[in-house]
Amino acid sequence: MTGSETFREASRFATPIRELGLTIAGTWLEGVLAEFEQEVHRVGIRRVHPRFYLSNEWGVSDSLAIGIPFYLARPDLMALHGERIGHIEGATRVDVLRYLRHELGHVICYAYRLPDEEEWVQQFGANTHPYLEEYRLEPFSRRFVRHLPGWYAQKHPEEDWSETFAVWMTPGLDWRSEYADWPVALAKLEYCDRTIKRLGALDPVATSAHQEDDIAEYPGSIDQFYEHLAGSSAEILTLGKIELPPGLDGALKAIFEDLGAFTDKTSTSVRKPASALIARLEPELLAHVYRWTGHFPERARPLIRHLAQRADQLKQVYPEDREIPAVIAVTTLVTTLAMNYVHRGTYLP
Ligand SMILES: [Zn+2]
Repeated sequence: MTGSETFREASRFATPIRELGLTIAGTWLEGVLAEFEQEVHRVGIRRVHPRFYLSNEWGVSDSLAIGIPFYLARPDLMALHGERIGHIEGATRVDVLRYLRHELGHVICYAYRLPDEEEWVQQFGANTHPYLEEYRLEPFSRRFVRHLPGWYAQKHPEEDWSETFAVWMTPGLDWRSEYADWPVALAKLEYCDRTIKRLGALDPVATSAHQEDDIAEYPGSIDQFYEHLAGSSAEILTLGKIELPPGLDGALKAIFEDLGAFTDKTSTSVRKPASALIARLEPELLAHVYRWTGHFPERARPLIRHLAQRADQLKQVYPEDREIPAVIAVTTLVTTLAMNYVHRGTYLP
């Protein structure tokens, strides 16, 4: 019965998170963490043993403990997160290891109080630099390493350090040759190499293992968690005064009138709705546009939905055998708008 299934699903996500008994033990994360601990040992970090716990997102807050998003602990919660938010940070073993290396950078930074070192400040900047959620980034700036998507090293001095550390510790990555032509980024990596060789066998000077935002203490349900998240991203959207740009109909017409015109006799294949194609592209567009432009998925998602809605209202179509040109055209359009936003703070200057 569909009715009772719907009810069961709704009630499942209405349960308080702390009653779900979410743990790392017994999940796929356990194996990944064991692998990571070996990595940590192999790079010569012997006296810092990070702890891991489930949190609302990836993070380390002046502590030796690394928070892992709770939804990674259960496949149904991962699917739900993908549906509600549009992208998952750590969907695979390789991806989780990537985040762990970055977070360990924060742990090491805290454990040895690196921002107190003069050379750390020279390489990365003062850690007192304000932490801006929206940072004006330069894709492919050769002053920074590339690791997490969205040119994350450019966000803040400590993120720059953590990204540098993550690249430095990645197994099998020959960072000296990879960054040979990027002298500023390379100097940061060399500093990291010297620093871990110097400190790796020493006891940490800071030892708190505080678990910030431990999911076991979250008072609400899964539904409330996502309502809250939607509320705060709606707030960010309003605060940033982002309005979905008017005047994009012309761009859609430029793409689909050329592609889909029924008078176009070069394709006799069946015409398909453009809106469904744009909707289908959403998850990949969110991930890849963020990776290369740094434009946040929570911003790009309303934009892509707006484009799909306009394409629907304009009854735009494309011939089935021209799907690749249609995908490239939509991708390029969204990327260009995202780049405008990253550089100018608005889609349409
Ligand atoms: Zn970070």
